Amino acid sequence: MHEMSIAEGIVQVLEDQARVQNYSRVEKVWLEIGPMAGIELDSLRFCFGAVTRGTLAENAALEIIETKGEAWCMHCAKTVAVRQRFDACPDCGSYQLQVTSGDEMRIKELEVN
Ligand SMILES: [Zn+2]
Repeated sequence: MHEMSIAEGIVQVLEDQARVQNYSRVEKVWLEIGPMAGIELDSLRFCFGAVTRGTLAENAALEIIETKGEAWCMHCAKTVAVRQRFDACPDCGSYQLQVTSGDEMRIKELEVN
């Protein structure tokens, strides 16, 4: 499962950061996920709960912040809002869009002890 490896990657980052920032417990994790990241949020929540068992992030709360998608419309020559890949430009209907944000996932904030 794709979300399982993402969750494992997050735990890896949390453990690496624990050494750098000197914490031993993660209480809460805020994740920013774009609408085009291709991540199933329910599935990620489930996997996160599973892979954190027995780690410093066991029982940590997971807050998911969904970010907005943006693309550059070559026809309008401006940035427009899109909800998914291969959407048409909301202004001119063109499909000549280049996604500029919305396909990323990052850890925004941590609450640690
Ligand atoms: Zn356009």
